[in-house]
Amino acid sequence: MRKTAIIFIGLVYFFSQAYTTDPVQGDKNQKQPLKRIVIDPGHGGSAAAAGKFYGASGKHMEEKDVALAIGLQLEKVIHEQIPDVEVIMTRTTDVFNSPIVKANKANAAKGDLFISIHCNDVGPTRHREVIGYTTRTVKRKGKKVTQRVPKYRTWYEPNLAQGTETYIWGVGKTKDKEEALMENNFSDTALLTIEKNDNPAMKMINSMRTQEFAKRSRALAETVEEEFVKAGRLSRGAKQRDEKGIWVLQAVAMPAVLIEVGFLSNPDEEAFITSPEGQLQIAESITKAIKRYKYSLELQVNGGKPSGK
Ligand SMILES: [Zn+2]
Repeated sequence: MRKTAIIFIGLVYFFSQAYTTDPVQGDKNQKQPLKRIVIDPGHGGSAAAAGKFYGASGKHMEEKDVALAIGLQLEKVIHEQIPDVEVIMTRTTDVFNSPIVKANKANAAKGDLFISIHCNDVGPTRHREVIGYTTRTVKRKGKKVTQRVPKYRTWYEPNLAQGTETYIWGVGKTKDKEEALMENNFSDTALLTIEKNDNPAMKMINSMRTQEFAKRSRALAETVEEEFVKAGRLSRGAKQRDEKGIWVLQAVAMPAVLIEVGFLSNPDEEAFITSPEGQLQIAESITKAIKRYKYSLELQVNGGKPSGK
């Protein structure tokens, strides 16, 4: 086959199959682009098992426990409010899995959306002020000179940073995302007959999918932050982590966001995000955002009509 023919077939395949529909669900002609959500409660396991992945510690609770409680609450609220969506959890207990294992789980489940739950944490703010002077004598050019030396008081105050943030993967990491797609999404499709690596058609399809997933991830991140604001939370915005990237977000072959639900280092916010009421409110805000996201995807893939669910 000539290269142009391969690209053409690839593109036709992309537009017809990229957002496949489950024929059992809903109207036969209506595609359901969001069928399976992977929820990833961040961190997990003992400090010894998790090592550098252990996560933050609040005064009263650990990030891994807050993330799990909110993840499980979110699973419940999605079941109740969006019953046609399946939820897959990367963990349901206090267990450590490396980000690689979590990404593999999400990819094996063929999720349509990946949501990672975390808590923010900042160290205390250091303050220093001059509280007086002492003198000391030094020799300068053979002469004795008296110098004034300030005395300092140093103290720490809790950093009162607060609010929610939703991250998507950094633009610089787009190549990694394309690789995740290369390795995962088309392994069991007709396209397997076309050579996977260094194939121009596959490259073009994956690049288009990467762009589409980035667009979707950003749309959801912004919607999540909007819903937090509606619920009375302070939003620090939808963000992109460029330099560091967020490994797990770029390793999953699906749109992906990481939600920092609040600061464990802020006493008021810790009280809120560790309370059952706060956790329910957070799960409900995220679910509202998912509903809006799902609706807009359905409009997009079904030519202006939602799936009716
Ligand atoms: Zn974290």
